[in-house]
Amino acid sequence: MVKISLSRLRQDLTALAHFGRAPGGGVSRPAWSPAHEEARAWLLARMKQAGLETWVDPTGNTFGKLGDGAPAVLTGSHIDSVPDGGPLDGALGVLAGLECLRTIREAAVPLKRPLTVVAWSDEEGRYQSLFGSRAFTGKLKMADIPKMRAPDGDRLVDAMARAGFNALEAPRAAVDPRTLAAYVELHIEQGPHLEARGIPIGVVEGIVGIRRNRIVFQGEPDHAGTTPMARRKDAFLAAAEYALRARELVVKGGSGRSVTNFGAVEVKPGVTNIVPARAALLQEMRELDPEVLARLDRECAALAGRVAKRRRIRVTVQRLSRNEPARLAHEVQRAIEAAAARLQLRTLRMASGAGHDAQNLATITKAGMIFIPSKGGRSHRPDEASDPRAIERGANVLLHTLLNLAS
Ligand SMILES: [Zn+2]
Repeated sequence: MVKISLSRLRQDLTALAHFGRAPGGGVSRPAWSPAHEEARAWLLARMKQAGLETWVDPTGNTFGKLGDGAPAVLTGSHIDSVPDGGPLDGALGVLAGLECLRTIREAAVPLKRPLTVVAWSDEEGRYQSLFGSRAFTGKLKMADIPKMRAPDGDRLVDAMARAGFNALEAPRAAVDPRTLAAYVELHIEQGPHLEARGIPIGVVEGIVGIRRNRIVFQGEPDHAGTTPMARRKDAFLAAAEYALRARELVVKGGSGRSVTNFGAVEVKPGVTNIVPARAALLQEMRELDPEVLARLDRECAALAGRVAKRRRIRVTVQRLSRNEPARLAHEVQRAIEAAAARLQLRTLRMASGAGHDAQNLATITKAGMIFIPSKGGRSHRPDEASDPRAIERGANVLLHTLLNLAS
C-alpha cells in the first residue's frame, strides 16, 4: 500500500516554520507580510521540485498540479498564520497535500483525474477572512475590496501592491466550478475532542454557522451615592443578567454542542460614582444546525427584551454578521472513512467549531475535511502541536482519500 514519507513531510513543516519565526518560538506570518511572501516563494520552489505545474492566481492563491485536464480533485489549506501562532494550523494541510502529490507521482499511481494542491490567501483574515477561497468561489465583491483593512489600518490594496499584486483584480480568481471534482482539506482539530476520545481521525460533517450581535442596554446615569438602589436603571446589571441567562439558554436549549461567547463589554460613563447608563455586549453564537442557530438567535434577542423590560430600561440588538453553517459532502466523508478503514484507523464524525476555507469550497463543489488530534486542544499559540504519528496517520488518510476521489 502506498504511504507518504513522514520524514520528508516533517522537514517541510520545519522549513516552513522558519518563515516568520518569532523570538518566543511562535510563527507570525500574516498574509502579504514579507515573511509570508518569502514562504510563498519557498512553497512554489518545493512544488516545482516535486514536478508539479505551478501558478499563482490574482488573489495570491498558490497552486501546484499533478496531471492534466479537468475536473481536478483539489486539496490544501493555508500558509498564513495568526500573530504568534503555531507551526501546524494551515501549514499541515498544504504540506501534507504536497507530500501526497509527490508520493503519488513517485509511485506512478494511475489517476483518472488530476490532483491540485493549493495554499489559500489570507485564511486568518488579517485583511479579510478566507479571502482567497472567497474569491476563488466567486463570493468577493469588487466594491468591498478598497474597504478591506488590517486592524492597524493598513489597506489590503496597499499590502497587495507591496507584494506585487493588484487587489482590484482579485475577483478574477473566480473558478468555473465544472473544473472541480472535489475538495478535501487536512487540518489539526484545534479542539480537545479527538485526543480525549483517543480517536486518530476526525471526519468533518460540517462547519458551524456564526451569529455576531451587539446588544446595547440603555439605562439612566444617576448619582451612585444618592439614588436608592431600587430606583436605579443600571445598564451594566442588565447586561450581566442577560449574559448569564443567555449562556444558560444556549447550553440547555441548543443542540448540545451550541456555544456562545461574550467577547467584549463596554460600560458608560465608566466611572465609580455614576450608575452605568449604557452597557454594550458583543455576543457570538456558533452551531452546526441552521434551524437551531436561528432559533437561539431569536430566543436570545427575546431574552434581552425581557431582561430590559423587567429592569425598566431599553435594549437594542444589532446584528453584526451572519455566517450560515456549511454542510460538507457525504461522498467526501465516505471517501475519508474508506481511506481510514484501509489504514485500520478509527474515525469520529464531528463538526468544526472554527471557520475554514472548506466552507467556501462547499458552495461550489463536494468538499470535505479531515481532522487530526491537537495536543491539549491547543491552537493559535506557539505550543500548538500534534504527535508525529498523528501527522503521519492524517497525511496517509489524505493520500488515500485523494486516490479514492481521483481514481
Ligand atoms: Zn487553519
